[in-house]
Amino acid sequence: MSKQLQVAAIQNGTVIDHIPNEKLVEVVRLLHLERLPNSSIMIGYNLNSEQLGHKSLIKVSNHYFSKEELDTLCIAIPNATLSIIEDYQIKEKRAFDMPSDFDNIVVCPNPMCITNNEPMPTKFHYCADKKVLKCHYCGKEVETDEVRFTK
Ligand SMILES: [Zn+2]
Repeated sequence: MSKQLQVAAIQNGTVIDHIPNEKLVEVVRLLHLERLPNSSIMIGYNLNSEQLGHKSLIKVSNHYFSKEELDTLCIAIPNATLSIIEDYQIKEKRAFDMPSDFDNIVVCPNPMCITNNEPMPTKFHYCADKKVLKCHYCGKEVETDEVRFTK
């Protein structure tokens, strides 16, 4: 017997799965889903999950997110999975991989930092050993779950 789908399949697009329930609204906001007029978007909240107990997921038809958007999700929902769907088939399924650099995604919490005083993009490096983001300009370290995003 095939497993029943909790949310309908899409023909082409992106599926973001294993989103913690409490992160769903933030992810919807970070991806600006309201600005995708050509996409059908299905959002599942509090679905059953073998791994998490409960989870949320988002299916977006006819849209593939930019590297910048996916890098943002690496920080917001590091344990979620990303699937690229083409013609109802999963073309690619993977975890979010943390990039080593984040360009203009994270706000520096240091008010003295040049990025908070000049009109310029921020830049952070990911330090895998400490699991923190470090400002390229002032060296301020930010825990990934305390990040404020630029958008
Ligand atoms: Zn800084």
